[in-house]
Amino acid sequence: MRLNIQKLLCEEGVLPFSCQVDPTGLDFPSISRYLSPISVVGQVKSQAEVLTLTGQATAKLSCICDRCGREYVRDAVFPLDAVLAAELEDEENPDVFLLQDDCVDLDEVATTAFVLGLDSKLLCKPDCKGACPTCGHNLNDGPCSCKQETDSRLAVLGQLLDEE
Ligand SMILES: [Zn+2]
Ligand SMILES: [Zn+2]
Repeated sequence: MRLNIQKLLCEEGVLPFSCQVDPTGLDFPSISRYLSPISVVGQVKSQAEVLTLTGQATAKLSCICDRCGREYVRDAVFPLDAVLAAELEDEENPDVFLLQDDCVDLDEVATTAFVLGLDSKLLCKPDCKGACPTCGHNLNDGPCSCKQETDSRLAVLGQLLDEE
């Protein structure tokens, strides 16, 4: 959605907004499906001739765990914190968004926050145990029946038991 902020260009004030952004086209290997559009709420504030946009973007995602490969649902929340400018003075700054016809492109702001905010590693839980490299069993469900790399002392004990 394009939000017209012309009023804020002439006088100080606050303009709240909320919209939904279609995430189609935002492809991440770890995201299998979007279960909701990206909901965006926030405000644009004009103060001392600086326009700032703050708020948050939320989305319900179906993700693939990077460690165990299991699909899980995640509510992702991304903070929005941007500066809006009529002219681009510093092209290197990713937090500055250019106005077009006195409008800010909320889709662009939201998708940028989304891309920057998504963790590089998406785990189903912080202490995910992963999957067995041999049989693929999800070790979060308990140990599998594969022979694990055994401790050398246990291996010696095993040999003693075998000899008896
Ligand atoms: Zn996992
Ligand atoms: Zn196994």
